[in-house]
Amino acid sequence: MSGRIVPDPAHACAQRAAKDLVTAAFQAIRGRYVQDRHQIAAAVLDADGRVHLGLHLDAMVGRAAVCAEAGAVSAARLATDAELIAVAAVRYPKPTEPALARIVPPCGLCRELLLDHAPRLDVVVPDTPARLVALTALLPHKYLGTKWPMPVSPT
Ligand SMILES: [Zn+2]
Repeated sequence: MSGRIVPDPAHACAQRAAKDLVTAAFQAIRGRYVQDRHQIAAAVLDADGRVHLGLHLDAMVGRAAVCAEAGAVSAARLATDAELIAVAAVRYPKPTEPALARIVPPCGLCRELLLDHAPRLDVVVPDTPARLVALTALLPHKYLGTKWPMPVSPT
């Protein structure tokens, strides 16, 4: 790290659960940031109160990159079958950018992926203040393919 101070963007959150997830994601990316390799970390909360972290993996071929949210869901699924109930992702600034970490909403691919694996997931979005919203509100009319008839829904 450069030694510059980058504040935790959790201060922008009004809700306790959102703050905690943002802080977890921020701490993860602050510790693992590598320019052009790892810019975003995500934190997923399960119904048992555990937090699972994921790290963005950039790639020389852009489409081979893996989003932090996918990594967090994978880590969660390795650890537990518990329902996933909330997620936050934080992008760490490049050295050439202002020292502001930002809460980032999931990209379109991640919205699909997250809904496939966590149909009741809430997502921290960078409104003012940042807040949790239902992922279904961010992706109405989700794609439903033929791999399974309905989104997997924990009982
Ligand atoms: Zn994504």
